[in-house]
Amino acid sequence: MAESKFPNIDDPETAPFWKGTAEGKLLVQACTKCGYLRWPPGPMCNECLSTETTWKEISPTGTLWSYAVYHRAMNPKFKDQIPYTVALVELDEGPRMYGRLVGKPAKVEPGMPVRGVFQEVEPGVMFVNWEIKA
Ligand SMILES: [Zn+2]
Repeated sequence: MAESKFPNIDDPETAPFWKGTAEGKLLVQACTKCGYLRWPPGPMCNECLSTETTWKEISPTGTLWSYAVYHRAMNPKFKDQIPYTVALVELDEGPRMYGRLVGKPAKVEPGMPVRGVFQEVEPGVMFVNWEIKA
């Protein structure tokens, strides 16, 4: 049996997102009917309830909305990296997204501008992490 990847990048619900990150692009679902951008992906638009959807590339920039310092790893893979900071980022184009805050910033405060950093966590799997914009 082939070793499964973490996360499952072949899950049809999120596969377009992972295909995007592998190319250094940030993609979210966009409602075909009203244009609402949503993350995480879902079967239906939160705004107009349409099930017609596509994927759209958006800018990997935003604002730190909140964060938490993890002293226990959410996955054994990250055990040797604790403590680490998980950011909730409000993207400039609307959706909010979680990701690791990287780059050992001197100061971390909600409201700071951040940019996405694409980092390979295992072969073929790129995470979108975040760093404070200088
Ligand atoms: Zn909609």
